[in-house]
Amino acid sequence: MAISHAATSARPARRLWRRLTLWAVGLAVAVALASLAARWAHDAAIDKLRVAGAQRLDGYAASLENLLSKYDFLPGTLELNKDVIALLQRPGDEALRAEVNSYLEQLNRRSGSTTIYIVNLKGVTQAASNWRSRQSFVGDYVAFRPYVRDALLGIPGGFYGVGTTSGEAGYFFAHGIYHEGRMLGVATVKVNIERLERDWAQGAGKVLLADAKGVVFLSSVPAWKYRTLKPLTPAALRELEESRQYFSHALTPLGQRDQRQLDGGAALVTLAEDPRTPVLSQTRSLAPRQWNFVYLSDLGSARASARNVFLFALLVQALLLLLVLYARQRRQTREHLEVLVAERTASLQQMTHHLSEENSVRRAAEEKLRRAQSELVQAGKMAVLGQMAAGMTHELNQPLTALRTMSDNAQVLIERGRLDDARGNLATISQLVARMGALTGQLRQFARKADASRTAVPVVAAVTSALFLVERRVEQERVNFRLAVRDQDVLALCDSNRLEQVLVNLFNNALDAMAVRAERQLTVHVERANGRALIAVADSGPGIPDEIRAHLFEPFFTTKPQGKGLGLGLAISEQIIREFGGELRAEAAAGGGARFVIVLPLAEQETA
Ligand code: ADP
Repeated sequence: MAISHAATSARPARRLWRRLTLWAVGLAVAVALASLAARWAHDAAIDKLRVAGAQRLDGYAASLENLLSKYDFLPGTLELNKDVIALLQRPGDEALRAEVNSYLEQLNRRSGSTTIYIVNLKGVTQAASNWRSRQSFVGDYVAFRPYVRDALLGIPGGFYGVGTTSGEAGYFFAHGIYHEGRMLGVATVKVNIERLERDWAQGAGKVLLADAKGVVFLSSVPAWKYRTLKPLTPAALRELEESRQYFSHALTPLGQRDQRQLDGGAALVTLAEDPRTPVLSQTRSLAPRQWNFVYLSDLGSARASARNVFLFALLVQALLLLLVLYARQRRQTREHLEVLVAERTASLQQMTHHLSEENSVRRAAEEKLRRAQSELVQAGKMAVLGQMAAGMTHELNQPLTALRTMSDNAQVLIERGRLDDARGNLATISQLVARMGALTGQLRQFARKADASRTAVPVVAAVTSALFLVERRVEQERVNFRLAVRDQDVLALCDSNRLEQVLVNLFNNALDAMAVRAERQLTVHVERANGRALIAVADSGPGIPDEIRAHLFEPFFTTKPQGKGLGLGLAISEQIIREFGGELRAEAAAGGGARFVIVLPLAEQETA
């Protein structure tokens, strides 16, 4: 008992667990799928950003190259100026210097550069476009500058740096000045390229331009300028100090950290200022100058699209789940209905089966009953036969005794020649025999097998015929006869002779009963009642006491004196009516007399 109880209570718990696990696994799978989709969306968005970034970088690089190439030729052209050559050949000629200074000033203004100046082979500036200003380069020693140094060594120089005198950044072009195959000095042009930053600041991403060492010298974000992409080596630091390329700037690292390397030199990185938000970093090198453009794209849009796709994927899965649940619910309901219908059908079939079984049982019972009834009738007839035999013996004994005596007497009377007396005796004998014949005739009728022939008998006509047979007696005994017909055309299904026989019998009994009465009223009612033919014979006789009523229909029951009644009339009548499927009953009449009621099937009904 305990085990089975534990088992039954454990089962729902286990089912609950299984269900919970299933849901958890389903949720995990859904989240995993949504994450995959989000990741895919994120990557797709990054790809898009990368393409856009690459385009931007190409554009920025092109515009930078464009700008710089414009000035590339400028230093070289200065050796074409005779005064420049002459000044380098005669450094003490102040008039010539003034001439060159003003030429450089004009050239600088026209070309849009920042400064143009001429350096001799010792590295001292001989003339400069800014000769008028307080920060005039004239007389400055600039040989330490890498571009000047390179140019003096015969290598045309290009260099970005912060001016030591002006403190202004710019790109320096330097080119040797040759005359008749001999270098006389170096021409330098400084160009301000910071104006590019203004264009960059208008773009979506952040742009920075770093030199070969990783020092950022141009940036759309002012704070990033003169910071480094990575920490500088001590050697690089020393070199920068010597060249004073970035003058007094601190050159601290931006603290860039790689998060993930992507295709095409792109990477997801974080910066020290916001170490938790990665950005897309793309680099494009400007090969001839060993510079690197870096383009940083904000990943906010990629994150937003990933988030949206994640939510959308979850939503779609939830919708799918709802659809599946809905379909399952529908299927279950349909199955439930089908089961219900099947159950109802089965129970109906069972009921039908039951009914037909019951029907056959009922029919069998009816058959049995009919057989029992007919057996009973037979048994009743046998019993009646016994009674009848006794009655017969009693009835026949007396005339037989009389017959013997009278025939003996007739013999004696003939022997004695008293023929008249003998003749009288024989006549009495003949009467006795006739009476005995009548008796046996009645018996034969009683014993006769039921005649099955039935026709539609007009009841009123049968009553009239029966009345005709007792008419003499009715007249003689001054009986008041009344025929009360409610339905004139009642047709009973029976045999007219036998119905008349029953009626005559009932009339005679009524007349017998009323014989001693002063008032004699015989009434016959004919009507249709409850779908049957009804004939009532009522008299104004003494009526039937209860103790007699119980035996009325028994054969040989009579209250009439010997020789007057046989006690077979009602028994035969009742049998006849019953054989026609009807009923004969006795009841008390309204005025205290007796009333016999014949009920018979209607012929109209049968034919209909
Ligand atoms: P019988 O007429 O030979 O006596 P029945 O079977 O016809 O035999 O009648 C049986 C008895 O029923 C009668 O003896 C009588 O006592 C009683 N009986 C019949 N008809 C009436 C009646 N109309 N009024 C009173 N008693 C009747």
